Amino acid sequence: MYEAVKKLAKKSFPKQLLLKNELFLRKILAVSYRGNAVCCNICESKLSHFIYLENGELLCPACGSLPRNRRLWQQLGEQDLLRGNVLDFSPSRCLARKMRVQKGIRYVSSDFVGEFEAEKSHDITAIAEPDDSFDLVICYHVLEHVDNDQRAMQELFRVLKLGGKVLIQTPFKEGDIYEDPTIISPEARLEHFGQEDHVRIYSESGLAKRLGSAGFSVEIKHFEEDLKFGMKENETLLIATKPK
Ligand SMILES: [Zn+2]
Repeated sequence: MYEAVKKLAKKSFPKQLLLKNELFLRKILAVSYRGNAVCCNICESKLSHFIYLENGELLCPACGSLPRNRRLWQQLGEQDLLRGNVLDFSPSRCLARKMRVQKGIRYVSSDFVGEFEAEKSHDITAIAEPDDSFDLVICYHVLEHVDNDQRAMQELFRVLKLGGKVLIQTPFKEGDIYEDPTIISPEARLEHFGQEDHVRIYSESGLAKRLGSAGFSVEIKHFEEDLKFGMKENETLLIATKPK
């Protein structure tokens, strides 16, 4: 139902108009989801339930957050990571809104492919930022799109301050990293890597090893399902730290 309405709205109104009025439209939508069964930790709405999307994701009607956005926000708070200079390569609108009003941080959002609203358009393999300048980098669902991911990891390492962290999430598989630079058509990439613009599928250990080669110390975190906050089971987060 939600997806049908969204499709209709997208067909009927210009994108900019919808984006400009997103929060107002969501407020109207969220009225019918009021309740006490679940809670969105990003917009702090109490809801009867999340919107169950066709792909199995649980969407907050009030702010548009997905499970991985809510998990990221939880981890930023629990681990006291929101401080100093923050660079976000995947600025989802719901989180970017929160970040922009956080006190005590300088938030820089970047989007190279024009998918998100962002201040910068950094190429992650040649980040136009000085060395040792960020305390935290968020790099969610980015590296699996990047041909030269080892160069990207070196760049992430370079722009982080000593002790700084990059939070990384990608789709994962068991075993080794699967990549093949001869697979370039969108159809073949969809078939082999699960999405038309993905160039590999990482394994957790393979990605951790690659980050280790770039100089990072890496922690792999796994999470349980959390029904109250609509967070998924089997979610993985890699926290890569530039050693002091
Ligand atoms: Zn929300």
